[in-house]
Amino acid sequence: MSSSKAINNMGMGIVEPQERMHNLINFGKVNEIDPKQSIYRYYRSGTEMLRMAHVYLNEKNHENAFILYMKYLTLFVEKIRTHPDFPSIKSEMKTINKLIKEEVMPTSEKLRLKLLDRYQREYEQFLANKEAERVRELEREKERRQREAASNNSTHGSSIIPANLHVQIDPENTPSAPDLGLLDQVVYPNDFPTGGGQKSNLLLPSDSVDRDSKGMSIPTKPSFDRSQKPQYERSDSLLAGSLRMVVIPQNTMDIFLQLAKSNTAKNIETCGILAGSLAKNRLHITHIIIPKQHGTPDSCNTMNEEEIFEIQDDQNLITLGWIHTHPSQTAFLSSVDLHTQLAYQLMMPEAIAIVCAPKYQTTGFFILTPNYGLHYIAECRQSGFHPHPNDPPLFMEAQHIQMDAGQKIKVVDLRR
Ligand SMILES: [Zn+2]
Ligand SMILES: [Zn+2]
Repeated sequence: MSSSKAINNMGMGIVEPQERMHNLINFGKVNEIDPKQSIYRYYRSGTEMLRMAHVYLNEKNHENAFILYMKYLTLFVEKIRTHPDFPSIKSEMKTINKLIKEEVMPTSEKLRLKLLDRYQREYEQFLANKEAERVRELEREKERRQREAASNNSTHGSSIIPANLHVQIDPENTPSAPDLGLLDQVVYPNDFPTGGGQKSNLLLPSDSVDRDSKGMSIPTKPSFDRSQKPQYERSDSLLAGSLRMVVIPQNTMDIFLQLAKSNTAKNIETCGILAGSLAKNRLHITHIIIPKQHGTPDSCNTMNEEEIFEIQDDQNLITLGWIHTHPSQTAFLSSVDLHTQLAYQLMMPEAIAIVCAPKYQTTGFFILTPNYGLHYIAECRQSGFHPHPNDPPLFMEAQHIQMDAGQKIKVVDLRR
């Protein structure tokens, strides 16, 4: 192999089926368990994982369904055991183990085989396309040289085509293995770290490969230059950029402020849970659930969480964040809010905190900075109001949100 070819091959990847599968399984890994989070929250998040997996299955988004099943398995077969309260969820674990045996294991194995088969077909098609492209390129080169020779011939009266060129450009003699140096456009599967965001929308078209009636495997994903998109880039903006879009009905804040009005007048905070559903890889907030609660001028504690879960299970809702008022302050996340947001964001990376500040007529849509703030707050041992350093920033404006004027928020008010 020539040295230039060796250089060309560095960092390239023909993405082989097994490697794609390996990457997919990596995305199914879950973070370490935070022992400060209630174990029941982890149990609840498992329920929501399966809820989302079912949506992906129905939509034939097999990769994202597979990732969620892998997440479920690593969480409940492995990680959850490290939680100090693990012994207390014995009866829940019975349900979970039954689900693992009857649903998660068999379905994920089916998906694994299906995906491997698809990757194999895409890989073969990819190689065939590259080879066809190479032959076409050689043909063009042949024609170009012939034209050149013809014009040289007419001026100089003699052919300058080297004798061996014909051998080199004969399609019959082209090696069956593709020239790896030409593989500058790689169909790369692992651009969906959380199964989300715009990037992961790229997955949807390629999933249609499965349904191609002619049995043809046509990679429909746009390819991109890997050098411009570091795979394991850890910056917050990139991590935030990989989040799935959260769609918020435009009237959510107005409706919530009306519900909070009497508290706000008494300078007391009001809080609610944002819940909704997954569709086509976007998260849609559809409900505000207002739990029984105890508010003060700068805090709000939910009570009877069981009631919230009942509503969610009843209506098949997943938890997408929370909303609260700052009756007399601006819109920001206080130190207590940061710890509250941690619990939401650990269970659902896309979960947002909406803060309504009616006195200043502003609204904030926040998340913990996914790389820094999330880990910093997870490590913070303090409770109640306490100072945090604010550089680098612990929270940021959510970039993965979109208002929808066409949808109206539904309210479930459990206070009365
Ligand atoms: Zn607050
Ligand atoms: Zn703290």
